[in-house]
Amino acid sequence: MGKIPVGVLGATGMVGQQYLALLARHPWFEAVYVAASPRSAGKLYREAVFGKWQHAASYDAERQCWDYGGTYAPQVGDLTVEDAGNVEKAAELSRKGKLSFVFSALEMDKDAVKALEERYAAAGIPVVSNAQANRWTEDVPMLIPEVNWAHAGIIPAQRKNRGWDKGFIVVKPNCSIQSYMIPLFALLDKGYELKRVFVTTMQAVSGAGFPGVPSLNVLDNVVPFIGGEEEKTEQEPLKIFGRLQDGKIVNAASPVIAAHCNRVPVTDGHTACVSVEFGAKKPGIDEVKSIWRAFQSYPQEHMLAMAPEHPVIIREEADRPQPRKDRLMEKGMAVTVGRVRPCPLFDIRFVGLSHNTVRGAAGGGVLNAELLKEMGYIG
Ligand code: NAP
Repeated sequence: MGKIPVGVLGATGMVGQQYLALLARHPWFEAVYVAASPRSAGKLYREAVFGKWQHAASYDAERQCWDYGGTYAPQVGDLTVEDAGNVEKAAELSRKGKLSFVFSALEMDKDAVKALEERYAAAGIPVVSNAQANRWTEDVPMLIPEVNWAHAGIIPAQRKNRGWDKGFIVVKPNCSIQSYMIPLFALLDKGYELKRVFVTTMQAVSGAGFPGVPSLNVLDNVVPFIGGEEEKTEQEPLKIFGRLQDGKIVNAASPVIAAHCNRVPVTDGHTACVSVEFGAKKPGIDEVKSIWRAFQSYPQEHMLAMAPEHPVIIREEADRPQPRKDRLMEKGMAVTVGRVRPCPLFDIRFVGLSHNTVRGAAGGGVLNAELLKEMGYIG
């Protein structure tokens, strides 16, 4: 059977290029449609991205490992970039069975992204989004498959609410929370109530897109502010930990999260220093580590192509995790944790690390699409 034809909106950006590097070798999906701003529209894809970033992680077949230097498939370089605003072009391909769904990696005004993603969905094209625009839309699930895959079950209600036939929208959360959400969920899942979380993030420059933070602002420096990031870090986990009820996602009431988000001169990989306070029942450090070691991806029997075999990897060395050494673990999809120890203010503390453009962006989006295929929503 042939591969499922997919599109990437925002294909020329940092995340869009990472999508195309991951899709170049994907077993189920094939990129056939690339779209971006009117600035890029009409150019061949390889011309539109010439001189832009191209620092994607992908599988190096010769050395048989994941590394940098990944790029799009040769035939993608010859695609003409479409104007993402020209939904009719994509709808025509969809009607002919030549486009199944799109990944959205658009960076533009939030309301404009929301309206555009809704136009794609209304035209019958499912949207698997990275953008923040629809994260707080009530009937749109914000998915991390290992944590809340069941929230995808809201899709029929979403279609019904909007009168959409085939289209729908799902989103993935902000990259800043990926370094600790799976470890926290693993503990919650074992019955340890999460009361309060104190988190300080050290976020890579690639998180700001291309061209991103001016080099003279960030080299030899730490910038203790990233617009909107602390709010997302504190609030998005509550939707993800929420429950599906009557066609809606009801947010969890806890944990209360306090976040400090910093931009640091690292290319890829967001690090988070996390302190956690539990409810009455508190796990010891050994129990925490054994829960994380045993935690498995979204039902293991349906192992998804992009899913890490071990979603949480524990490093015992005193100086790990480190972005350069640990960000590509398990295809860039694992969270690497270290320095797991008691906390004198709360109960435990640890350092978590995840790759922001893979697990935190394109890899997370591909994993969401794999989940939706497995659940029968796309294909
Ligand atoms: P980026 O490098 O700035 O890329 C932005 C993309 O959006 C480009 O393809 C650009 O096309 C396109 N675009 C801009 N204005 C447009 C318009 N008016 N109409 C249509 N397309 C337009 O940004 P990024 O870092 O890839 O981020 C993309 C999305 O992912 C954002 O919503 C971001 O918040 C989210 N995200 C990013 C990360 C990360 O680590 N970078 C992590 C998680 C989520 P042109 O090239 O033609 O201008």
